[in-house]
Amino acid sequence: MLARAAWERKKRQTKTGEPVLIVGAGPAGLAAAAELRRLGVPAQIIERSSAVAPSWRARYDGLRLNTCRWNSKLRREDRFEADAPFFPLRDHAVRYLESFAAQHDLKVRFGVQVDRIDPCPDGWLLSTNAEPLPARQVIVAIGHQHTPWMPAWAGRDQFPGHILHSFEYRNPEEFRDRDVLVVGGGCSGLDIARDLAQGGARRVRLAVRTQPNLLRKMSCGLPTDLLAAALFRLPTRIADPAGRLVQRLTVGDLGEWGLTVPDVGIFTRLHEGTAPMIVGGDVIAAIRAGDFEIVPGVCAVDAGGVRLTDGTTLRPDTLIAATGYTTGLEPLVGHLGVLDEAGLPLQYRGIPVRPGLRFLGYAPCMGVIGRDARRVARHLCDELTAADRSRTSLKRPGPPEHEPPRPVRLTHKGSDGPRPAKVLV
Ligand SMILES: Cc1cc2nc3c(=O)[nH]c(=O)nc-3n(C[C@H](O)[C@H](O)[C@H](O)COP(=O)(O)OP(=O)(O)OC[C@H]3O[C@@H](n4cnc5c(N)ncnc54)[C@H](O)[C@@H]3O)c2cc1C
Repeated sequence: MLARAAWERKKRQTKTGEPVLIVGAGPAGLAAAAELRRLGVPAQIIERSSAVAPSWRARYDGLRLNTCRWNSKLRREDRFEADAPFFPLRDHAVRYLESFAAQHDLKVRFGVQVDRIDPCPDGWLLSTNAEPLPARQVIVAIGHQHTPWMPAWAGRDQFPGHILHSFEYRNPEEFRDRDVLVVGGGCSGLDIARDLAQGGARRVRLAVRTQPNLLRKMSCGLPTDLLAAALFRLPTRIADPAGRLVQRLTVGDLGEWGLTVPDVGIFTRLHEGTAPMIVGGDVIAAIRAGDFEIVPGVCAVDAGGVRLTDGTTLRPDTLIAATGYTTGLEPLVGHLGVLDEAGLPLQYRGIPVRPGLRFLGYAPCMGVIGRDARRVARHLCDELTAADRSRTSLKRPGPPEHEPPRPVRLTHKGSDGPRPAKVLV
């Protein structure tokens, strides 16, 4: 068995000496390269920045993962450092990814930005800020949260205060004694509002347009990300009431503070593509303590201030838009017809969207990204093996007697169709 694996590996290395090009050295790109390497397929990562995991390095200082460390590993064998808390902090995630890249001896070319991908006779041609890079096999892993997105508030330029995206937020220091409005009731918005309120901002309000389905990181003694992943597999008629019960027991009624429980159940929403907001107990405590106020959504921003959907006008010193991200794939591959209307790749969990072109990382949780990477690598490896075989059988009529038995084809449950990123964070 081991001998056959080694033989297969050697065969692939010799026949497919050309590396798979992976765009992006975030968790997805690193995991893909490591999985390919394990299968004996050479891979080269192309990264625009100067270090691995730059998006994690750029996140705010107080960020604590809302997935537990068991569910935040790229490979089961590669653990977080022993002193990392159960819900690791940003810096633990960075160190984890650095040591993952070093341990797997991954090859990263830094400082090269891929601007566009085009088909060419031998596969794909990547236009970059350096020389063009040809490749037969490409994996695009430039991140689900690639480009910060902000609503097109018409009078934004006339707003007298300062506007920034949550992507630019680092810590509450520069907002000391300021009146800050955070826009967006997602995990980042809630957490940044708490961070500001406890870090010395004079007044903090959080504008919420769609009431979030709130959950705490731990529910009934279990990490919520794992509990919710298990409930997600059940029919919604069972999962929704179970989710409500968990919500009632762990979060309670926040109606008095402006957060009502949405009519649509947690898992019905999740199947529609909207994940629940998993936050720390400190966020719930801050809401109850009135550390920050919940206000209605924003409908306009202009010289007069910020207008809310209930007609109120606020005049904060600073507006922080925690309004999400887009995939940023349009300039890279938009012309290839491989994206849906939301800018997501049509396939991203195994099979190529075009021969030799794959996407990875379109799931908001590193544990899931790691499992997807394994599937993508196996799929790609199968394809290379099949291509090798057909080339070999064209050259000679039959295998020589000393050739090892044909390997069993790796099959991947559920890898044959697009699956939306209905995964939990
Ligand atoms: C605030 C926040 C909190 C999160 N919390 C959690 C959590 O608790 N648990 C969890 O599991 N996940 C969490 N995630 C989600 C997710 O795991 C991460 O976003 C993860 O980093 C995604 O990995 P990725 O490799 O797909 O993308 P990224 O980490 O974004 O990596 C993409 C890489 O591609 C590079 N790149 C981009 N464009 C180009 C280009 N054109 N050419 C070359 N290189 C390029 C970038 O520089 C980057 O290195 C969180 C995300 C956010 C935003």
